[in-house]
Amino acid sequence: LIQLFIPLNALGFVYREIRQSLVNVERLFGLLEEHPAIEDAPYAQALHLTQGEIAFHDVHFSYNPDRTILKGVSFTIPAGHKVAVVGASGAGKSTLARLLFRFFDVSSGHISIDGQDIRQVTQDSLRNLIGVVPQDTVLFNDSIYNNLAYGRPSASQEEVEHAARQANLHDFIISLPEGYKTKVGERGLKLSGGEKQRVAIARVLLKNPPLLILDEATSALDSISEHIILDALNEVSRQRTTLVIAHRLSTVSDADTILVMEQGEIIESGSHNALLALNGYYAKLWQQQQHTTKT
Ligand code: ATP
Repeated sequence: LIQLFIPLNALGFVYREIRQSLVNVERLFGLLEEHPAIEDAPYAQALHLTQGEIAFHDVHFSYNPDRTILKGVSFTIPAGHKVAVVGASGAGKSTLARLLFRFFDVSSGHISIDGQDIRQVTQDSLRNLIGVVPQDTVLFNDSIYNNLAYGRPSASQEEVEHAARQANLHDFIISLPEGYKTKVGERGLKLSGGEKQRVAIARVLLKNPPLLILDEATSALDSISEHIILDALNEVSRQRTTLVIAHRLSTVSDADTILVMEQGEIIESGSHNALLALNGYYAKLWQQQQHTTKT
């Protein structure tokens, strides 16, 4: 009986870990509440990536029939480019990421990757190609090493350490008495928001997906932490088609294109300099932020 029990118990552990990782992905998008399960179309094929171009075509969306959240959003992220979305809280920024990850389907219009409507491809193939750096990463009750290797369990120790270096986490880890063996999570060492975000960045570097969603943390970091995170984010977004959901303006000025959203619509778009020259909503936000950082 004990022999039977042990593997079952191990299976239970694996099951719990898988459940937990699903919860993590849902937490990425603030989706712990119930949402309708999306099903693969009966004829769904694996997404065939050629360039890595993401496009939203006249996307409308509502969570509930009584309130439209996105009102005809269109934009393209050319392969390897970085597009950042800014705008007031509730404008619909994170909703774009949830739709791209296909937690919900659009009400009308469509989203395509390399010309393939994401509703026509398998969810597994879609999600395997997208890396997500969420606002708040949930850590497993395990060593920091295993928490990093979760990005690609087959990775070698050298690869895990390399990713930790690129994410500006290695020096912090080796300064801990137990180094990479340090237990983290609820029952271990508590990591700061910035450290957890760097764990997420290292995981994405290990997973090495061609497409990336960065959901910038809402809470302010001190300027040293912010600088470290920005360096790590730049490292992870290099060469990948990236959608940055920016709740502050700090990560956006180097984006190829910035989309400014207001109440479910894109009201301005362009580079940082072009938007400043436009002297509209973005320029106002930027001036406000400069003012806040100075005071
Ligand atoms: P913030 O910067 O505050 O994160 P945001 O621009 O990312 O805001 P979204 O999270 O996209 O905003 O939300 C857009 C609107 O949709 C908000 O009014 C929000 O209340 C609503 N909303 C978000 N998630 C759900 C949901 N699961 N069910 C119903 N309404 C939702």
